[in-house]
Amino acid sequence: MTAKILDGNLLAQKLRADFKTRAEALAARGTRPGLAVILVGEDAASQVYVRNKVNACAQAAFHSEKIVYPPDVEPRRVLARIAELNADPQIHGILVQLPLPGHFDSEAVLKAIAPEKDVDGFHAENVGALMQGNPRFIPCTPYGIMKFFADAGIELKGKEAVVLGRSNIVGKPMAMLLMQASATVTICHSQTRDLLFHTRRADILVAALGRARFVTAEMVKPGAVVIDVGINRLPDGKLCGDVDFGPVSEIASAITPVPGGVGPMTITMLLANTLEAAEREVS
Ligand code: NDP
Repeated sequence: MTAKILDGNLLAQKLRADFKTRAEALAARGTRPGLAVILVGEDAASQVYVRNKVNACAQAAFHSEKIVYPPDVEPRRVLARIAELNADPQIHGILVQLPLPGHFDSEAVLKAIAPEKDVDGFHAENVGALMQGNPRFIPCTPYGIMKFFADAGIELKGKEAVVLGRSNIVGKPMAMLLMQASATVTICHSQTRDLLFHTRRADILVAALGRARFVTAEMVKPGAVVIDVGINRLPDGKLCGDVDFGPVSEIASAITPVPGGVGPMTITMLLANTLEAAEREVS
């Protein structure tokens, strides 16, 4: 079997065209969706992510503000800016690019964002709402993955889903969404004893470990749907995922590539969350 490629660029393009139409409709009624992105420090990867987010806003006719601080900024200055953005009617979404420098209490910063503007969905109130099955914002990466399933008509009900990784931003919310879609979910992590046992029986396998080409063909059940969240840089500078794409795509029924899979969808769902926040405000 050769897997169907789940093309994140294509799906992102389709969704973003719809978001632009909705943003323009809102703007005509006096509200342009607005996103504020805060970047602290000079981390090269973070700078690229922030630039991509701001560009995506411009392309979808959203308002955006990029706020950059030097790495040694006092946390109280950032917290004060967040308080201003919480009260700013032009801003519907606030995002603080992680990771923050070591002298920051990241939890406290995320908590300072008004839950109704927390478009990353990381505030404890939004995490709780997701857990209760009544989400206000779904974290962007797993939200984008759910869009892949919906777009490709991949049934989740009753399926064995295995999530590799238990982070707050990917693994845990992914598992929650799969469970809410009535899959039977197993979460694996670095202390899982027999990883192969779990991955080999997965109908849906989501890899979010941050380990280059970790998931090999022998770990995958023939016909499985394989979602590769990982972004790893190889010594030659190229990007690769957590899945050994070539051999795995020979046996999976569907697979996301890296780059061009989950990545573009993550930014797209940030737009979705910002738009939904703006639409909620005017409704
Ligand atoms: P974290 O480092 O926070 O979590 C990694 C998880 O993988 C942990 O739960 C860890 O287990 C588990 N893990 C690590 N090694 C193994 C192993 N050998 N066997 C089993 N489990 C293991 O990463 P994130 O969740 O933040 O991100 C994961 C990857 O996804 C990264 O490559 C990141 O760059 C990428 N990413 C991509 C995005 C996109 O838009 N495409 C968005 C967000 C992330 P334990 O908890 O026990 O340590």
